[in-house]
Amino acid sequence: MKSKPLFVQCDICASSAYNHYFDRNDGQTVVQCKDCGFCYLNPKPDQRYLDSIYKKRSYFKNNTNTIGYSDYFCYQQGNMFWQIMKKKISKILKSKISKCLDIGCAAGDFLQLMTRDGAVGYGVELSSYAAKLATEKNLVVYNKKFEDVHFKDHFELITLFDVIEHVESPTQLMKKVCSLLNSDGLVVITTPNLYKYYLDGKQWTGFTNSHEHLYFFTPNTIKQLLVQSGFTLLKIETYDDYCYPAIIAYYINKFPTKYYLRGITRRLFIPFSSLLKKLNFGHTMIVYATKK
Ligand SMILES: [Zn+2]
Repeated sequence: MKSKPLFVQCDICASSAYNHYFDRNDGQTVVQCKDCGFCYLNPKPDQRYLDSIYKKRSYFKNNTNTIGYSDYFCYQQGNMFWQIMKKKISKILKSKISKCLDIGCAAGDFLQLMTRDGAVGYGVELSSYAAKLATEKNLVVYNKKFEDVHFKDHFELITLFDVIEHVESPTQLMKKVCSLLNSDGLVVITTPNLYKYYLDGKQWTGFTNSHEHLYFFTPNTIKQLLVQSGFTLLKIETYDDYCYPAIIAYYINKFPTKYYLRGITRRLFIPFSSLLKKLNFGHTMIVYATKK
């Protein structure tokens, strides 16, 4: 029997008033809160169904192109993002980290990097397959939902890489994160940036892919979430390989590779791309906050 659609209120401000925002290409509706501007899926898919997706090994490797990853573990082999993040974090958190927690740690690649400087790495991961890979990296791994883990420790650093848009309640989750953070600790969040939708329209990957996402943040709404959960926002930056509208990317990709024509054309757009990233239009938001 098909369950009844679950209509929900805004997770940030609890308002039930919303406007239709867009229909995603899987037929699900994204609405915008009339009171705080937060965009979220409404009605909301069944959380047990979503949790079951994350537990499957196919979440990390599949060819649906609409849920999860085509090949997460293969992508990790050449992934420089963790090194970049470690460097960015060390510029803000200057003291030595003794304990760090990564929520949604997958196979623990970021945590493993952090433990090289002596930190003890704690990870939470729903997938038993990924959690096992993380455990082999000498990390403390909880193969559970973060909401169900009871921690005895506090942490100098808590990270959530591409997690907040998936969880049942971002507000409840961030309040728990706040309670686990040391008074001078740092929380770092990455999440897709809804501003990119303004550039890409229906070509935006948040529209065409990742259909397990429930929440769609802008710099403004992620700030509201953090402030009401007990944090002070330090800064937001956006990250992207090349940041320009999808229509430009489409035409650049049509250029022949002969005589480096495609590469040269792409380079011509670098100043434009840098400007858009500075204006917070990059695909991924990187958000840094401390405890109030
Ligand atoms: Zn709201």
